[in-house]
Amino acid sequence: MSDHTELSASLFARASAVTPGGVNSPVRAFRAVGGTPRFMASGDGCHITDVDGNTYLDLVCSWGPMLLGHAHPEVTAAVQAAVSRGTSYGTPTQAEVELGEEIVARTPVEKVRLVSSGTEATMSALRLARGATGRAKIVKFAGCYHGHVDALLAQAGSGVITLGIPGTPGVTEATTADTIVLPYNDQAAVTEAFAQYGDQIAAVITEASPGNMGVVPPVDNFNAFLARTCKENGALFISDEVMTGFRITRSGWYGVDGVKPDLMTFGKVMGGGFPAAAFGGRADLMSHLAPEGSVYQAGTLSGNPIATTAGLTTLRLATDEVYARLDQTSATIQRLVATALEKEGVPYVIQAAGNLFSVFFVESSEAPVTGAQQIRDFAGASAQVLPRFAAFFHAMLDAGVYLPPSAFEAWFVSAAIDDDALAKLETALATAARAAAAV
Ligand code: PMP
Repeated sequence: MSDHTELSASLFARASAVTPGGVNSPVRAFRAVGGTPRFMASGDGCHITDVDGNTYLDLVCSWGPMLLGHAHPEVTAAVQAAVSRGTSYGTPTQAEVELGEEIVARTPVEKVRLVSSGTEATMSALRLARGATGRAKIVKFAGCYHGHVDALLAQAGSGVITLGIPGTPGVTEATTADTIVLPYNDQAAVTEAFAQYGDQIAAVITEASPGNMGVVPPVDNFNAFLARTCKENGALFISDEVMTGFRITRSGWYGVDGVKPDLMTFGKVMGGGFPAAAFGGRADLMSHLAPEGSVYQAGTLSGNPIATTAGLTTLRLATDEVYARLDQTSATIQRLVATALEKEGVPYVIQAAGNLFSVFFVESSEAPVTGAQQIRDFAGASAQVLPRFAAFFHAMLDAGVYLPPSAFEAWFVSAAIDDDALAKLETALATAARAAAAV
């Protein structure tokens, strides 16, 4: 049980005095679920332990990176050895060459450029797409998150195809005027947008399989349709695999649907828990980048030797057996969640994209739909009973399971989850399902 939170509460008060909202990334603040965010002090395998000494089974995994679990001995040793040789030189190093080679070997990209965050990766991919095509407009989908890039922090207007309106103060209308926001999985909307703006569209950017509105996989070969439509119109298809890359399969969602994008973005797992991300794609497109070409992009800590060592060691340990184990663990957890919720009569939908999945607490008391994908877009994902998720989340937390503190997030598994952890999870789920039923 995790009923002592005094030290987390005291750190949160101190944090709130010096940092907006007490956190350095908004979702950590528990605003969606209420309560005191837990300040973690250590991690080991599938567990994280907070400053009050409560240990949790971790189903967030740092929002994706910790594929192998926390403090993996081989990753830790490689990082310690790298640190002892110095932490940054501002010159090329061998580890970044090897990480680049590993990414090229695992994915369809021919050339890759390393950066330090997923946000930088998508921002740079957009600039490259605009530079290479000489066009301005970008198509994105409502509910897909690509980091806090100004042009991508746009909300849809009221019509199906509207130019984006700024999604946050501080982003100007001019910045989002070239962003077209469409409903996800809506082929007709994409066709209409290209009919209207076809020769102005530089790129369509999409999460390869969205995980930032909860898990809402593409239906009816949506990615293949996007790739084809882009090709027919001289636009580029950018697949954002920051969340899915190297997590769902050796490559990512590409390993599931095999649709070849013009450009791709990566992050999370490839940094092994350090700030490393990348964008890559066709060699002819990547050659537009400085110093080969004229599209400028750079970074003081890009390809940092510690981050690249952690990422490379993680990827080398992420073998086919690891991905098979992740799939199996994920399927078991999904089954345990379904059983617990059904027992208490709580309506739910579970959607999965490989080992990524999320649980939607839906309104309908009908039996969960099997077969057809119930939630296809952001509007569907938004129709959740949020107070039910909050009750479920807190009961899980009290029982020692750390879930994403928002109903719009994927659950992340690690290869370190073992039978003891699954037994703990099953017990927690029984209580949490009752808490959700009581809302
Ligand atoms: N793209 C996707 C699909 C993401 O999930 C995220 C982060 N959750 C980003 C981009 C941004 O990555 P970062 O937080 O490293 O900037």
